[in-house]
Amino acid sequence: MAYIVAPSCHKCKYTDCVSVCPVDCFYELDNMLVIHPEECIDCGACEPECPASAIFEESDLPDKWNYMIEFNAVTSGAMEPADASGDYSGVRGLPADVINEQKEPLPNADAEIDIEKTQAEMEAHYNFKA
Ligand code: SF4
Ligand code: SF4
Repeated sequence: MAYIVAPSCHKCKYTDCVSVCPVDCFYELDNMLVIHPEECIDCGACEPECPASAIFEESDLPDKWNYMIEFNAVTSGAMEPADASGDYSGVRGLPADVINEQKEPLPNADAEIDIEKTQAEMEAHYNFKA
């Protein structure tokens, strides 16, 4: 079991989450972060730090975002795209690079997130199909 980053992280990068992770298991895509499920020690420190409420313990992840379990695993490098059920052929720059220091948020970062719009934008941005 690991913690999972949900689509509401898209376009945030406040990266408050990164500053508290004791094992540096966050990875950075160009518009969002993901968690490496085999490196995450399930400590829960990051969840309350996220202003977008985008981090879930795997068992608490809403069903509609179940595909994000695999998305986090593949984009962080824990799973090969070929072994995944989703289409990762259009996702840029895999695997993502580790991020272990807080940085300035993206210029368009906004904690007042429209979850449904963000999900659609994330999937379109990464040309990803679950
Ligand atoms: S604080 Fe939350 S929304 Fe922002 S980068 Fe971290 S996980 Fe993503
Ligand atoms: S639950 Fe702990 S180990 Fe896992 S990503 Fe969050 S801070 Fe890092």
